[in-house]
Amino acid sequence: MPSFVINEKCDGCKGKDKTACMYICPNDLMVLDKDKMKAFNRAPDMCWECYSCVKICPQQAIDVRGYADFVPLGASVVPLRGSEDIMWTVKFRNGSVKRFKFPIRTTPEGKAVPNGGFNEGAGDLASVALFTEPASLNMSAVATLKK
Ligand code: SF4
Ligand code: SF4
Repeated sequence: MPSFVINEKCDGCKGKDKTACMYICPNDLMVLDKDKMKAFNRAPDMCWECYSCVKICPQQAIDVRGYADFVPLGASVVPLRGSEDIMWTVKFRNGSVKRFKFPIRTTPEGKAVPNGGFNEGAGDLASVALFTEPASLNMSAVATLKK
């Protein structure tokens, strides 16, 4: 079920050009109502509940109506993202609460190398080779079927 914004918590990312939820949504669903300074999901039926906006929101202002198999009615699953780890707070229907903390990175923030240090390909979109191939395959050329 789609994400939704808790209006009382959303501060519109303090009026920055692009809010955190707009930046992160892979489906470009989040928009900011600049008059009210509140974000909203403009096409809930297109949301695939990836939780990216929930995790990035600095105000914890976004929630997802989880499917009953992992968030039964009356329960909640709330992430709190830090720079090194993420804490999930799971509230069960009977009111009991459990927290799980997981590391989220193995490299310092801002230090990830997108191409993994491999030489990048020629940028030929028609090629069968992926972005860093053949270097990341440790080959001089990508093997193809002979016709
Ligand atoms: S990231 Fe959170 S606080 Fe920022 S605009 Fe979106 S819902 Fe509001
Ligand atoms: S849950 Fe994922 S797909 Fe849905 S609005 Fe948030 S970021 Fe976009």
